Amino acid sequence: MAPKRDKLEPELTACLKELHLPAVRECYGDEARRARSEGLSYEQYLLEIMQREREVRTENRIARHLRASKLPLEKTLDTFDQGRLGRKLKAHMKLLVEGTFLERCENVLAFGNPGSGKTHLLCAIGQELIYQGKRILFRPCNLLVQELLIAKRELELARALKRLARYDGIIIDDIGYVQQDRAEMEVLFTLLADRYERASIMITSNLPFSQWESIFKDPMTTAAAIDRLVHHSIILELNVPSYRLEAAKKKGMRGDANLS
Ligand code: ADP
Ligand code: MG
Repeated sequence: MAPKRDKLEPELTACLKELHLPAVRECYGDEARRARSEGLSYEQYLLEIMQREREVRTENRIARHLRASKLPLEKTLDTFDQGRLGRKLKAHMKLLVEGTFLERCENVLAFGNPGSGKTHLLCAIGQELIYQGKRILFRPCNLLVQELLIAKRELELARALKRLARYDGIIIDDIGYVQQDRAEMEVLFTLLADRYERASIMITSNLPFSQWESIFKDPMTTAAAIDRLVHHSIILELNVPSYRLEAAKKKGMRGDANLS
Protein backbone atom coordinates (compact mmCIF):
# COMPACT_ATOMS: atom_id res chain seq x y z
CA MET A 1 0.00 0.00 0.00
CA ALA A 2 2.74 2.47 0.99
CA PRO A 3 4.49 2.74 -2.40
CA LYS A 4 1.14 3.36 -4.09
CA ARG A 5 0.52 6.26 -1.79
CA ASP A 6 3.98 7.62 -2.52
CA LYS A 7 3.11 7.76 -6.19
CA LEU A 8 -0.35 9.11 -5.64
CA GLU A 9 0.71 12.45 -4.18
CA PRO A 10 3.05 13.60 -6.97
CA GLU A 11 0.55 12.45 -9.59
CA LEU A 12 -2.30 14.22 -7.95
CA THR A 13 -0.20 17.36 -7.53
CA ALA A 14 0.79 17.29 -11.21
CA CYS A 15 -2.81 16.78 -12.21
CA LEU A 16 -4.06 19.66 -10.07
CA LYS A 17 -1.31 21.87 -11.44
CA GLU A 18 -2.25 21.10 -15.01
CA LEU A 19 -5.90 21.73 -14.29
CA HIS A 20 -5.08 25.02 -12.51
CA LEU A 21 -6.62 24.13 -9.18
CA PRO A 22 -4.08 25.67 -6.78
CA ALA A 23 -6.41 25.91 -3.79
CA VAL A 24 -7.34 22.24 -4.08
CA ARG A 25 -3.65 21.39 -4.33
CA GLU A 26 -3.00 23.39 -1.19
CA CYS A 27 -5.75 21.89 0.94
CA TYR A 28 -6.62 18.40 -0.31
CA GLY A 29 -4.23 16.58 2.05
CA ASP A 30 -5.34 18.31 5.24
CA GLU A 31 -8.97 18.07 4.18
CA ALA A 32 -8.56 14.35 3.44
CA ARG A 33 -7.19 13.74 6.93
CA ARG A 34 -10.07 15.72 8.38
CA ALA A 35 -12.59 13.85 6.23
CA ARG A 36 -11.21 10.52 7.44
CA SER A 37 -11.30 11.52 11.08
CA GLU A 38 -14.81 13.00 10.81
CA GLY A 39 -16.12 10.25 8.58
CA LEU A 40 -17.18 12.55 5.72
CA SER A 41 -18.49 11.00 2.53
CA TYR A 42 -16.55 11.30 -0.76
CA GLU A 43 -19.07 13.83 -1.96
CA GLN A 44 -18.73 15.93 1.17
CA TYR A 45 -14.97 15.91 0.85
CA LEU A 46 -15.15 16.88 -2.82
CA LEU A 47 -17.54 19.68 -1.99
CA GLU A 48 -15.23 21.04 0.73
CA ILE A 49 -12.19 21.27 -1.50
CA MET A 50 -14.07 22.60 -4.52
CA GLN A 51 -15.75 25.27 -2.41
CA ARG A 52 -12.31 26.29 -1.17
CA GLU A 53 -11.12 26.63 -4.79
CA ARG A 54 -14.14 28.75 -5.64
CA GLU A 55 -13.61 31.02 -2.62
CA VAL A 56 -9.96 31.60 -3.44
CA ARG A 57 -10.81 32.35 -7.07
CA THR A 58 -13.47 34.86 -6.06
CA GLU A 59 -11.07 36.56 -3.63
CA ASN A 60 -8.37 36.75 -6.29
CA ARG A 61 -10.77 38.11 -8.89
CA ILE A 62 -11.99 40.82 -6.54
CA ALA A 63 -8.41 41.76 -5.63
CA ARG A 64 -7.58 41.95 -9.35
CA HIS A 65 -10.62 44.10 -10.10
CA LEU A 66 -9.84 46.41 -7.18
CA ARG A 67 -6.32 46.95 -8.52
CA ALA A 68 -7.55 47.47 -12.08
CA SER A 69 -10.23 49.92 -10.93
CA LYS A 70 -7.62 52.56 -9.91
CA LEU A 71 -10.09 53.56 -7.17
CA PRO A 72 -8.68 55.37 -4.15
CA LEU A 73 -9.37 52.43 -1.84
CA GLU A 74 -9.35 54.47 1.36
CA LYS A 75 -12.64 56.08 0.27
CA THR A 76 -14.99 53.45 1.63
CA LEU A 77 -18.61 53.41 2.77
CA ASP A 78 -17.41 52.77 6.31
CA THR A 79 -15.43 56.00 6.38
CA PHE A 80 -18.25 57.98 4.72
CA ASP A 81 -20.38 59.85 7.24
CA GLN A 82 -23.94 59.38 5.99
CA GLY A 83 -25.28 61.61 8.73
CA ARG A 84 -24.47 64.56 6.51
CA LEU A 85 -26.85 63.41 3.79
CA GLY A 86 -30.56 64.01 3.61
CA ARG A 87 -33.10 61.18 3.72
CA LYS A 88 -33.56 61.08 -0.03
CA LEU A 89 -29.85 60.81 -0.69
CA LYS A 90 -29.47 58.05 1.87
CA ALA A 91 -32.23 56.08 0.17
CA HIS A 92 -30.53 56.60 -3.20
CA MET A 93 -27.26 55.38 -1.75
CA LYS A 94 -28.79 52.20 -0.46
CA LEU A 95 -30.25 51.52 -3.87
CA LEU A 96 -27.01 52.26 -5.69
CA VAL A 97 -25.03 49.92 -3.47
CA GLU A 98 -27.36 47.12 -4.58
CA GLY A 99 -25.92 47.63 -8.05
CA THR A 100 -29.00 46.93 -10.17
CA PHE A 101 -28.55 50.29 -11.90
CA LEU A 102 -25.51 48.80 -13.65
CA GLU A 103 -27.64 46.06 -15.16
CA ARG A 104 -30.11 48.68 -16.36
CA CYS A 105 -27.17 50.68 -17.81
CA GLU A 106 -28.27 53.74 -15.83
CA ASN A 107 -25.93 56.61 -15.16
CA VAL A 108 -25.23 58.27 -11.84
CA LEU A 109 -24.62 62.01 -11.79
CA ALA A 110 -23.36 63.53 -8.56
CA PHE A 111 -23.52 67.30 -8.29
CA GLY A 112 -22.48 69.59 -5.46
CA ASN A 113 -20.00 72.18 -4.41
CA PRO A 114 -16.33 71.30 -3.89
CA GLY A 115 -15.75 69.22 -0.77
CA SER A 116 -19.35 68.03 -0.49
CA GLY A 117 -18.24 64.40 -0.81
CA LYS A 118 -19.11 63.57 -4.44
CA THR A 119 -15.86 61.77 -5.21
CA HIS A 120 -15.81 59.91 -1.91
CA LEU A 121 -19.43 58.83 -2.32
CA LEU A 122 -19.08 57.46 -5.86
CA CYS A 123 -15.75 55.78 -5.06
CA ALA A 124 -17.24 54.10 -1.99
CA ILE A 125 -20.19 52.85 -4.04
CA GLY A 126 -17.78 51.70 -6.76
CA GLN A 127 -15.75 49.70 -4.28
CA GLU A 128 -18.86 48.00 -2.88
CA LEU A 129 -19.91 47.04 -6.40
CA ILE A 130 -16.53 45.44 -7.05
CA TYR A 131 -17.04 43.27 -3.95
CA GLN A 132 -20.28 42.16 -5.59
CA GLY A 133 -18.38 41.03 -8.67
CA LYS A 134 -18.86 44.10 -10.87
CA ARG A 135 -16.10 45.82 -12.78
CA ILE A 136 -15.61 49.53 -12.11
CA LEU A 137 -13.01 52.00 -13.36
CA PHE A 138 -12.18 55.31 -11.72
CA ARG A 139 -10.61 58.06 -13.83
CA PRO A 140 -10.23 61.79 -13.20
CA CYS A 141 -11.88 63.37 -16.25
CA ASN A 142 -8.82 65.23 -17.48
CA LEU A 143 -6.65 62.09 -17.38
CA LEU A 144 -9.29 59.98 -19.10
CA VAL A 145 -9.59 62.57 -21.85
CA GLN A 146 -5.81 62.65 -22.33
CA GLU A 147 -5.71 58.86 -22.53
CA LEU A 148 -8.46 58.84 -25.15
CA LEU A 149 -6.73 61.57 -27.13
CA ILE A 150 -3.50 59.59 -27.23
CA ALA A 151 -5.45 56.53 -28.36
CA LYS A 152 -7.12 58.59 -31.09
CA ARG A 153 -3.82 59.98 -32.30
CA GLU A 154 -2.50 56.45 -32.58
CA LEU A 155 -5.67 55.33 -34.40
CA GLU A 156 -6.50 53.14 -31.42
CA LEU A 157 -9.63 54.90 -30.21
CA ALA A 158 -11.97 52.06 -31.14
CA ARG A 159 -9.78 49.61 -29.29
CA ALA A 160 -9.58 51.91 -26.24
CA LEU A 161 -13.38 52.18 -26.16
CA LYS A 162 -13.62 48.40 -26.38
CA ARG A 163 -11.29 48.06 -23.42
CA LEU A 164 -13.45 50.50 -21.47
CA ALA A 165 -16.55 48.54 -22.45
CA ARG A 166 -15.31 45.73 -20.22
CA TYR A 167 -16.23 47.84 -17.20
CA ASP A 168 -19.79 47.76 -15.93
CA GLY A 169 -19.33 51.31 -14.66
CA ILE A 170 -16.81 54.09 -15.28
CA ILE A 171 -16.51 56.88 -12.72
CA ILE A 172 -15.53 60.07 -14.51
CA ASP A 173 -14.41 62.36 -11.73
CA ASP A 174 -14.73 66.14 -11.95
CA ILE A 175 -16.13 66.63 -15.42
CA GLY A 176 -15.71 70.23 -16.47
CA TYR A 177 -13.15 71.04 -13.82
CA VAL A 178 -10.38 71.58 -16.34
CA GLN A 179 -11.25 73.58 -19.45
CA GLN A 180 -11.06 71.42 -22.52
CA ASP A 181 -10.38 72.22 -26.11
CA ARG A 182 -12.51 70.91 -28.96
CA ALA A 183 -10.49 67.75 -29.60
CA GLU A 184 -10.68 66.85 -25.92
CA MET A 185 -14.41 67.47 -25.82
CA GLU A 186 -14.89 65.30 -28.91
CA VAL A 187 -13.28 62.18 -27.45
CA LEU A 188 -15.25 62.64 -24.25
CA PHE A 189 -18.46 62.89 -26.25
CA THR A 190 -17.48 59.79 -28.23
CA LEU A 191 -17.13 57.85 -24.97
CA LEU A 192 -20.53 59.04 -23.68
CA ALA A 193 -22.16 58.11 -26.98
CA ASP A 194 -20.41 54.73 -27.04
CA ARG A 195 -21.73 53.76 -23.61
CA TYR A 196 -25.22 55.20 -24.02
CA GLU A 197 -27.75 52.47 -23.14
CA ARG A 198 -24.92 49.92 -23.13
CA ALA A 199 -23.07 50.53 -19.87
CA SER A 200 -23.15 52.95 -16.96
CA ILE A 201 -21.22 56.12 -16.44
CA MET A 202 -20.89 57.71 -13.03
CA ILE A 203 -19.98 61.38 -13.06
CA THR A 204 -19.07 63.95 -10.45
CA SER A 205 -19.23 67.63 -11.27
CA ASN A 206 -19.10 70.98 -9.54
CA LEU A 207 -20.85 72.50 -12.56
CA PRO A 208 -24.64 72.41 -12.92
CA PHE A 209 -25.94 71.45 -16.38
CA SER A 210 -26.55 75.14 -17.12
CA GLN A 211 -22.78 75.60 -17.28
CA TRP A 212 -21.95 72.51 -19.30
CA GLU A 213 -21.53 74.50 -22.45
CA SER A 214 -18.08 75.32 -21.15
CA ILE A 215 -17.32 71.59 -21.38
CA PHE A 216 -18.92 70.70 -24.72
CA LYS A 217 -18.38 74.09 -26.38
CA ASP A 218 -21.45 74.42 -28.60
CA PRO A 219 -25.11 74.27 -27.54
CA MET A 220 -25.94 71.30 -29.81
CA THR A 221 -23.22 69.02 -28.50
CA THR A 222 -23.93 70.10 -24.94
CA ALA A 223 -27.61 69.27 -25.33
CA ALA A 224 -26.77 65.94 -26.98
CA ALA A 225 -24.33 65.00 -24.20
CA ILE A 226 -26.72 65.95 -21.39
CA ASP A 227 -29.56 64.16 -23.17
CA ARG A 228 -27.64 60.89 -23.38
CA LEU A 229 -26.43 61.08 -19.80
CA VAL A 230 -29.75 62.02 -18.27
CA HIS A 231 -32.06 59.73 -20.25
CA HIS A 232 -31.55 56.81 -17.84
CA SER A 233 -29.99 58.31 -14.76
CA ILE A 234 -29.99 58.83 -11.05
CA ILE A 235 -29.10 62.35 -10.03
CA LEU A 236 -27.54 62.99 -6.64
CA GLU A 237 -27.52 66.55 -5.37
CA LEU A 238 -25.07 66.92 -2.53
CA ASN A 239 -26.24 70.22 -1.19
CA VAL A 240 -24.10 70.02 1.90
CA PRO A 241 -21.29 72.26 3.11
CA SER A 242 -17.70 71.29 2.34
CA TYR A 243 -16.55 68.39 4.49
CA ARG A 244 -12.97 69.65 4.24
CA LEU A 245 -13.99 73.06 5.49
CA GLU A 246 -16.03 71.65 8.37
CA ALA A 247 -13.25 69.27 9.36
CA ALA A 248 -10.77 72.13 9.29
CA LYS A 249 -13.11 74.32 11.38
CA LYS A 250 -13.55 71.57 13.97
CA LYS A 251 -9.81 71.12 14.18
CA GLY A 252 -9.44 74.88 14.55
CA MET A 253 -11.97 74.93 17.37
CA ARG A 254 -9.97 72.30 19.19
CA GLY A 255 -6.98 74.58 18.75
CA ASP A 256 -4.80 71.99 17.10
CA ALA A 257 -4.77 73.54 13.66
CA ASN A 258 -3.46 76.80 12.44
CA LEU A 259 -6.00 78.11 9.97
CA SER A 260 -4.70 81.62 9.72
P1 ADP B 1 -15.88 66.53 -3.72
O1 ADP B 1 -15.54 65.44 -4.68
O2 ADP B 1 -17.34 66.80 -3.63
O3 ADP B 1 -15.08 67.79 -3.96
P2 ADP B 1 -14.61 64.79 -1.83
O4 ADP B 1 -15.39 63.54 -1.99
O5 ADP B 1 -13.26 64.83 -2.45
O6 ADP B 1 -15.47 66.05 -2.28
O7 ADP B 1 -14.50 65.10 -0.28
C1 ADP B 1 -13.51 65.98 0.25
C2 ADP B 1 -12.81 65.32 1.45
O8 ADP B 1 -13.76 65.16 2.50
C3 ADP B 1 -12.30 63.94 1.15
O9 ADP B 1 -11.13 63.71 1.88
C4 ADP B 1 -13.42 63.03 1.61
O10 ADP B 1 -12.90 61.76 2.00
C5 ADP B 1 -13.99 63.79 2.78
N1 ADP B 1 -15.45 63.64 2.91
C6 ADP B 1 -16.40 64.26 2.18
N2 ADP B 1 -17.64 63.92 2.58
C7 ADP B 1 -17.47 63.03 3.57
C8 ADP B 1 -18.36 62.31 4.41
N3 ADP B 1 -19.71 62.44 4.30
N4 ADP B 1 -17.83 61.48 5.34
C9 ADP B 1 -16.48 61.34 5.46
N5 ADP B 1 -15.58 62.01 4.70
C10 ADP B 1 -16.05 62.86 3.79
MG1 MG C 1 -14.15 65.48 -6.21
